[in-house]
Amino acid sequence: MDDPEQIWQSVLGQIELKYSTSIINTWFNNTSLGRLTESQAVINCQSPYTKEILYKRYQKDIAACLEKIVQRPLSVDFELMEKKDSSTTRTGPLFDQAPEGKAAAPPTKPRSTRNLNPRYTFDNFVVGNCNRVAHAAALATTEQPGRAYNPLFIYGGSGMGKTHLLCAIGNEFIKRDPTSRVLYFPVETFINDFVQAIRFKKTNQFKEKYRQNDCILVDDIQFIGGDKSTIQEEFFHTFNKIHNRGNQIVICSDRPPAEIEQLTNRLVTRFAGGLMVEISPPEYETKLAIIQTKSSELGLELSGEAAEFIAQSAGSSIREIEGLLLRIRSETLVQNLPADLNTLKSIVSHNNGTKEKTEKHPLTPETIFKLVNERFGTSMADLCGKNRKREVVVPRQIAMYLLRNDLGLNFEHIGQLLGGRDHTTIMHGAEKISKKLQKKETPFAPAVRQIRQTLY
Ligand code: ADP
Ligand code: MG
Repeated sequence: MDDPEQIWQSVLGQIELKYSTSIINTWFNNTSLGRLTESQAVINCQSPYTKEILYKRYQKDIAACLEKIVQRPLSVDFELMEKKDSSTTRTGPLFDQAPEGKAAAPPTKPRSTRNLNPRYTFDNFVVGNCNRVAHAAALATTEQPGRAYNPLFIYGGSGMGKTHLLCAIGNEFIKRDPTSRVLYFPVETFINDFVQAIRFKKTNQFKEKYRQNDCILVDDIQFIGGDKSTIQEEFFHTFNKIHNRGNQIVICSDRPPAEIEQLTNRLVTRFAGGLMVEISPPEYETKLAIIQTKSSELGLELSGEAAEFIAQSAGSSIREIEGLLLRIRSETLVQNLPADLNTLKSIVSHNNGTKEKTEKHPLTPETIFKLVNERFGTSMADLCGKNRKREVVVPRQIAMYLLRNDLGLNFEHIGQLLGGRDHTTIMHGAEKISKKLQKKETPFAPAVRQIRQTLY
């Protein structure tokens, strides 16, 4: 390997394994391997502060990783570089936050991509029989926005990749036209925003946010069901505004429109008026391919045998499979074990009795909140509220940490779940817990372990 870019990616991969993605996002974003000579490596950074932190905290780790790759001793130095323009900013899988100081969006067409998870792309979406049609339709909407299928309505069970596809569409839209206005939102956000808009008399802003888009990606639409006729009506208008302009609408749901409780007929008709596709549970081969893709994304070296074993023994939710891979990664790292069949069997059998257990404790944010609250005697209001007392702050940060680490949610999303907090708050919170857990005598470590035992 002698391509500096490739070498640097590999170093980042190793640093991420040792610390966390948030470390990478905070300190390593916009860094690169500037020069590599026989005896020296120069790392380019974009701010004096980053340079100082990298030098103080990570120089040794960087040197160790580099030496392992190039197989010779190196001194590592840091140099300050001019800020590049934002188009060269890294947005690979290691970076799931918008970098700081990003160049301003074009003034005429502000981009609203804040909620789009950049890690979910078409490139890392594995196609199999279970999702072939959905994938093709999703791709078609980016090739012929507003014309191929409008709306595209994708439904299927939890953990089947609906949100992944939805974000992939958004990311592809932006890749093709960086100025396009794409808005991804879980329908609950729409509901909350609507309620707030009425309350604070900001309906114009609300309309602007939802109606002025080239593409809207609506997730978990099933939550609009039930006794919510005003909200359904508002959504109907939003839908029509966008549709009439010929802009794209993609909707995801855990069930077909006709099965959404108390959904008005006109919405059922609208939703079914384009193309409706189902994603079904993945068959063995697809599961296997996904396990391989995900483990290499996680830097987990699974043998073929081990991957097959997981594909056979795991259920069909890919979210749960991912949870299992994260767990394997952390257990093998912590206990310094190889990710071989024996280790896996012990971890998976530990999981077993599984079906019943998984159904009781599905790996969802709700379960994490419930377990954290049970363990610490807190409530949802505590977790989402502003109380700064230690008894509340610690559980809140533990929830952030688990949502990030075990569920793999992005900071933005976690912020939304926890009462609309800023993503940097989540990043710091999760990182704080992660650091403390690395120390032996952290008082809450047993609690976290216990929560994890219940989860898996
Ligand atoms: P859903 O929204 O249907 O509940 P998600 O899109 O959140 O499911 O998927 C759960 C996890 O599984 C995500 O991390 C996603 O990347 C992954 N996943 C699901 N399907 C695929 C696939 N076909 N290829 C790669 N990853 C997938
Ligand atoms: Mg989803």
